[in-house]
Amino acid sequence: MELFDWNHGFTLDFDLKSGFSRKVKTTKRFLSDMKNFFGDLGTVEEILKKENPLIYEYYELGCPEREGDLAFGTTIIYPGIIGNEYYMTKGHFHRKIDTAEVYYVLDGEGYMVMEDPAGNTKEIPVRKGEAVYVPRSYAHRSVNTGKMPFVLFFTFAADAGHDYGTIEQKGYRHKICLEDGKVSVLKNQKWNWGGENI
Ligand code: MN
Repeated sequence: MELFDWNHGFTLDFDLKSGFSRKVKTTKRFLSDMKNFFGDLGTVEEILKKENPLIYEYYELGCPEREGDLAFGTTIIYPGIIGNEYYMTKGHFHRKIDTAEVYYVLDGEGYMVMEDPAGNTKEIPVRKGEAVYVPRSYAHRSVNTGKMPFVLFFTFAADAGHDYGTIEQKGYRHKICLEDGKVSVLKNQKWNWGGENI
């Protein structure tokens, strides 16, 4: 059942601090859901022996995946580090790869990490009050480099679809890490693009 009336419009509560909405349950990603996404599998397994931290969660409103609609919601990435790698979302391509996305940072600070199928990358620092345009063709991942939750509003073409598998399989070329006490963009040694090395 759809919670909202996508054919006739609707309003909903929208909390500029925490995301929204009280009407919707979030989808949660725990560390156990993301074992293969962090570089340091040994540390992941050590942590999982003791606890299974919540890495991020997002509000989706159940927008039908049809041409012309705009899906929107919020993502909240919690502060933390696995090994030297900051908490982040899984990241994805859109199945319709030529569709863009807009993010607006409601709170906190971090990076939008982007990569296209040819291996071109962009790592863009963003903070509260800034918007970031993710261009068509770029996979995108949000990374929390701050000490507070990193809260992002997003909107994209509802029929764009999501491809998480490509990133899970090949990884990102760069990762956002704490190195020598500061935020650093490092090469991902496990990057497995499969194309020629560039
Ligand atoms: Mn997207």
